[in-house]
Amino acid sequence: TNKLQDKVAIVFGAGSVGEGWGNGKASAVAYARAGAKVVAVDIQQAAADATRDIIGSEGGEAISVGANVTALDDVRRAVDEAVKAFGRIDILHNNVGITSQGGPVETSEEVWDRVMTVNVKSMFLTCKCVLPLMEEQGSGVITNISSLASVRWTGYAYSAYYASKGAVNMFTKGLAIQYAPKGIRSNCILPGLMDTPHIYQQISGFYKDVGEMVEARHKLSPTGRMGDGWDIANAAAFLASDDAKFINGIELLVDGGMHVR
Ligand code: NAD
Repeated sequence: TNKLQDKVAIVFGAGSVGEGWGNGKASAVAYARAGAKVVAVDIQQAAADATRDIIGSEGGEAISVGANVTALDDVRRAVDEAVKAFGRIDILHNNVGITSQGGPVETSEEVWDRVMTVNVKSMFLTCKCVLPLMEEQGSGVITNISSLASVRWTGYAYSAYYASKGAVNMFTKGLAIQYAPKGIRSNCILPGLMDTPHIYQQISGFYKDVGEMVEARHKLSPTGRMGDGWDIANAAAFLASDDAKFINGIELLVDGGMHVR
């Protein structure tokens, strides 16, 4: 507790795609529970507001911003709001990501471009806006949400998603080396199969019905269970803290061991 006292965290994709705890919402709340002030950014204003309100109801400090992470002007506005409210940014958390379905033949150019834009260009834009601040401060932590799909087959044919998450890893490692001398650490978290609202919207199409999806995903994990948003949130709070001050450029797998087999 209080490992992030007086830190300021900006979380892009801090809402949730549906009711419940997505990775982004849980991470925003986990940062606040560790003492950080939080800027909850989401394309769905109401979802960002809901995260802000949860943090407020627990006695934490947060603001919400409705912004599209693929638009540079929106990202700049969110960063400006953060600085106006809290004066600095210590933690940049990039959670926004969408899934595609199909290999190259089944994937349209439009879907390919959208997935690459939302999953990869978004991180380029947020880093473009936040890095100068962190450089001036001489410190910062960037945590990018990748996926187990960046390093292995996860049970689905989704070429655009695989490609986008692979790009996230190397984008992050480039930052890790370039900015380490400036006191900025950059890491990825690779969630395995998680039970978040996102899967009911974006993965269920791969299955006959939701029950089959849930059963299949539980079975694929060596633990017999999917993880959830809190597994990602706890990892993110650790990476952002000084306990992780020598951890830079890693792919932190949070997958119950699924990558091993
Ligand atoms: P989530 O519930 O955290 O939702 C993501 C949020 O991003 C939503 O609130 C959505 O409104 C927001 N968003 C979408 N497009 C946006 C945009 N253009 N601008 C601003 N906000 C936008 O979803 P989640 O699945 O819990 O976590 C998301 C991240 O975790 C993604 O990067 C995803 O690829 C990764 N991931 C998830 C799983 C899983 O099993 N759920 C597995 C591996 C990786």
